[in-house]
Amino acid sequence: MSNSKDGQSADKMQHGVHAEPDKVVEPEESMPEFTNEELPRSILNAIENAGWDSLTPVQAKSLPYQLYNRDLMVQAKTGSGKTGAFVLPLLEKLRPDINYTQALILVPTRELARQVEREARTIFEGTGLRVLSVYGGVGYGHQREALEKGAHMVVGTPGRILDLLLRRTFDLDDLETLIFDEADRMLSIGFYPDMCQVKSYLPRHPISTYMFSATFPEHVLRLSKEFMYKPQLLSLSSKQVHVTEIEHAYYEVPSMGKERHLMRILEMENPTSAIIFCNTKANVEFVATVLNNFGFNAADLTSDLSQSRREKVLEQLRNGDVRFLVATDIAARGIDVPDLSHVIMYEPPEDKESYIHRAGRTGRAGSSGIAISLVDVIQKLELQRISAAYSINFEHRQLPDDKQVIETINERLTTILEGRFRGKTILERERISRYKDLVRQIAQDEEQCTLVGMLLDELYQSSLHSRPPQPPTPKPRPNKSRPQKNYRSKSGKGGKPQGSRSGSSGNKRRY
Ligand code: AMP
Repeated sequence: MSNSKDGQSADKMQHGVHAEPDKVVEPEESMPEFTNEELPRSILNAIENAGWDSLTPVQAKSLPYQLYNRDLMVQAKTGSGKTGAFVLPLLEKLRPDINYTQALILVPTRELARQVEREARTIFEGTGLRVLSVYGGVGYGHQREALEKGAHMVVGTPGRILDLLLRRTFDLDDLETLIFDEADRMLSIGFYPDMCQVKSYLPRHPISTYMFSATFPEHVLRLSKEFMYKPQLLSLSSKQVHVTEIEHAYYEVPSMGKERHLMRILEMENPTSAIIFCNTKANVEFVATVLNNFGFNAADLTSDLSQSRREKVLEQLRNGDVRFLVATDIAARGIDVPDLSHVIMYEPPEDKESYIHRAGRTGRAGSSGIAISLVDVIQKLELQRISAAYSINFEHRQLPDDKQVIETINERLTTILEGRFRGKTILERERISRYKDLVRQIAQDEEQCTLVGMLLDELYQSSLHSRPPQPPTPKPRPNKSRPQKNYRSKSGKGGKPQGSRSGSSGNKRRY
């Protein structure tokens, strides 16, 4: 949203790949952008082949760090050219003459895996570099065959990557570059345990690691510390003052049945934890009830609650026993709840200042988060006033339709099912395979399908209850300046996190 009359084009501008950022957070010892003359020929060729005129800001800014192998966290949204930002430098890093996987890109969804694969194919055209995407929900045969032929870059969801590693269909012994794309979404889907297991397959030699994410809430920052060596942040945000670390977005929803739209938005956004603000006690109770009836784990917080009850609710939120807190402004005043990924405003506040207080509940302690408002036509005017008063650029997000919601649910369910299956013993798998005939039989009959649907629904609903697993808060270490165990550096000066797997094969190594 903008103050201009043409809100639509302002929205587009925000998504446009050439939108100039006016606030850049650079790493310490920042590196200047390359001039056109300094850009490697391989990258110039790729830009030309792709039909692009120049690099987008996120590409130009992040390129030098990547070419100099400095681990980097990049705050970048879809539409900023972020895929190109991590694929272009690979032109200079990957060796086509070595038929092993040298770059691994972890992504949250199959759709994104395919998208990254497509873009990489364009960028790698004519170089001899091969890329392959792998994801859950499909058989292993094709992916196994393709991996046997060899891919220099593999892009995939952490669950499927782990499956393939466990099956020894491929290995990461020759990996040089690891990239997390949309790290915040990967954590909200619940991929953290899979990522930890993938970590144990990383090679013993130092690798370069990059993390791209729209937001960097505390749990994403913790993830970066687990996987990266001295990660530093590069952030290119567009005009946002007062609450600079926070992304602001809104959905336009009809006033009738707003609660139903809230459910869909929550299913799509899948926040790890959130406060949902309402203006009245009645709405707080209504929204909390609807959320619980739907299957979400929510608690309400109004000023009516006794102090001890308040404490209990807040404790549950901190522990992750409660995922959503529904509250009025007054009830939420002064409460201490760190690490919320989202602030959701079921309705905009009645006074402008409250917007800043509400939004400030995410993006704490130097991390970033997202504030989402649900507005009807009239409330949109309210949001415009807030936008004007605080120079906040609101990103307009399209309401998800049923098809998108179903696709998202299907993908999440597949992830859960495949994750569970991975944990089964040989004997258990044998037992499970006894049902194959029954499943086939049921699948042929439309009515009978509902029976399996019922089982899947139970599984899915239970997944809404708990917060997805997150990187743990580290215990304070007595001596912070001491380098961590298992760190080693390319230069011998510092160190990078290593894979902890023993017996990583050395015979294929280039070093
Ligand atoms: P992404 O942020 O990676 O989802 O990219 C958004 C779109 O921008 C994709 O269609 C890219 O092909 C396109 N794109 C990426 N880099 C550039 C560039 N330097 N110039 C023009 N378009 C680009």
